[in-house]
Amino acid sequence: MTRGNPCQLPGMLPNYDPNDNEAGMKILEDLTENVEQIQQRVLEEIITRNARTDYLKGFLDGQFDKQVFKKTVPVVNYEDIKPYIERIANGDSSNIISAEPIIELLTSSGTSGGQPKMMPSTAEDLHRKTFFYNLLVPVMNKYVDGLDEGKAMYLLFVKPETKTPSGLMARPVLTSYYKSNNFQNRPFNRFNVFTSPDETILCSDSKQSMYCQLLCGLVQRQEVLRVGAVFASAFLRAIKFLEDNWKELCSNIRTGHVSDWITDPGCRKVVSLVLNKPKPELADLIEHECSSKSWEGIIKKLWPRTKYIEVIVTGSMAQYVSTLEYYSGGLPLVSTMYASSECYFGINFKPLSKPWDVSYTLIPNMAYFEFLPVKEKNEDGAQYVQCNGVCKENCMEKETEKEDVETVELVDVKLGQYYELVVTTFTGLYRYRVGDILMVTGFHNKAPQFRFVHRRNVVLSIDTDKTSEEDLLKAVTKAKVIVESLGILLIEYTSYADTSSIPGHYVLFWELTSKGNNHLPVLDPKIMEQCCSTVEESLDSVYRRCRRKDNSIGPLEIRVVQHGTFDALMDFCVSQGSSVNQYKTPRCIKSGEAINILDSRVVTRFFSQKAPFWELV
Ligand code: AMP
Repeated sequence: MTRGNPCQLPGMLPNYDPNDNEAGMKILEDLTENVEQIQQRVLEEIITRNARTDYLKGFLDGQFDKQVFKKTVPVVNYEDIKPYIERIANGDSSNIISAEPIIELLTSSGTSGGQPKMMPSTAEDLHRKTFFYNLLVPVMNKYVDGLDEGKAMYLLFVKPETKTPSGLMARPVLTSYYKSNNFQNRPFNRFNVFTSPDETILCSDSKQSMYCQLLCGLVQRQEVLRVGAVFASAFLRAIKFLEDNWKELCSNIRTGHVSDWITDPGCRKVVSLVLNKPKPELADLIEHECSSKSWEGIIKKLWPRTKYIEVIVTGSMAQYVSTLEYYSGGLPLVSTMYASSECYFGINFKPLSKPWDVSYTLIPNMAYFEFLPVKEKNEDGAQYVQCNGVCKENCMEKETEKEDVETVELVDVKLGQYYELVVTTFTGLYRYRVGDILMVTGFHNKAPQFRFVHRRNVVLSIDTDKTSEEDLLKAVTKAKVIVESLGILLIEYTSYADTSSIPGHYVLFWELTSKGNNHLPVLDPKIMEQCCSTVEESLDSVYRRCRRKDNSIGPLEIRVVQHGTFDALMDFCVSQGSSVNQYKTPRCIKSGEAINILDSRVVTRFFSQKAPFWELV
């Protein structure tokens, strides 16, 4: 496009030199000033391109009109479009939903029927993502000077991928991006130089990848100006890995020789080059810091020039803020962007704001955005509160009554209101409910800014897993059959995500009783461990992958509580404003006080002894 006139975007994507900060900022100003026109152009473009697809034809009947689109095309969930996605996965032509060929399917961390949802992606979409990533650079440069005087230690990873029966690649969105030409052959950007050679990022063995990336980061410690990973959970996993492996890493630095178990040829080659020669002094220094009893502020000590930590700490990642603060020694935690497999959505224009103040500005040329007003269904009529990105305790919001609710456009959202995000993308999703609840916090020029409130229907999350109340109920129902066959009844249960150690794990509180009397039964540890495993086996494939393959979730724990514990929990919830008549046991607990009530009544605890089955399908 011509700079300064975003309404004439060829292909809707402005072209500019990402090293040019001024040009980047100008584009952001143009995009946020002209939100309404850009959104209209985006919708027009999507309809014009795709009106003849089977999907849209069925609703539009050959009309290219935006009003007809909004009147006739329904707001949908994944289940509604799943048959189309499955047809494409099985070999049907992708033009049933998208005029642009779908080149791969992106496996989301949201699941359907226990398996990851699959989102369509096109070649052009990679350019849209590159455009989006490039815009993050000038925003950061506006707030932090000198990012071109050193490197970024970003710990980035690829995940397993598979092929659909038709031969399409099915993989997570970041894996798709890192493996693309757009990433691997990216033009040099002096503000964005990584310590991790691409070979270490692209290594499919996550342990080798982590080891090599940390080794490269440590060797180049004096050059590192910022550290990070995509999500807070991944960054903390790296710190834990460092805690477990620093001696070996130091020995490699001391000798200039990479450990023999690093067998990936690409990794060995590039890491040897970075290591270059024995560096005993550097090894001594790192050893000195790492052998300190306390790891408080370790990031600042190991990477002394670091200006900030770039990790997403909004949504379910907010639970990691205090742990990150402990390790970081007061460095700012920067959540730069809000994105998904469906589409990249928004950028944080104030990257140095505190985690709880972070808002994202939706970028209007990424997709056509609509918003379903969300009425809170909390029984006391209370507004939603920030709830670590998952349903707050006692949150009664289930499905919004979608049929008779009208969406509003991006320019019509109201300050302070809650909405569920609905997107129409360039890749074949039309009026698709993302499932995220956002709140309008302000405006950047004419573009609204949103706080991520929580994900609809998610109660538990440690890493990228998203477990709903329903998923949990199903899993608990399977496990309780085991104790029932022994004459033991599960009277009540609830859960919480315990992130006090790394990796975090799911905890279930169970109140049990013997059939026929009111006594706490004698419990056989083997049986209870089997219950833990059964719950894990019954959770969805993203949970099982995190637990088994990524080791980003620890063994599930069941804490058996005394009789009367759930009455005490109810008393507490009522004292906090829940109505007695409508009280339902919260299936997930967030409040520290409520957790203390449960924890102080724990009689015994059991852990799953084996990781659940997981395979790539
Ligand atoms: P996935 O479908 O696996 O790509 O996950 C996308 C989802 O992750 C989004 O719909 C959000 O629920 C969540 N997410 C992504 N970015 C953020 C963010 N910056 N803050 C909070 N949640 C996020």
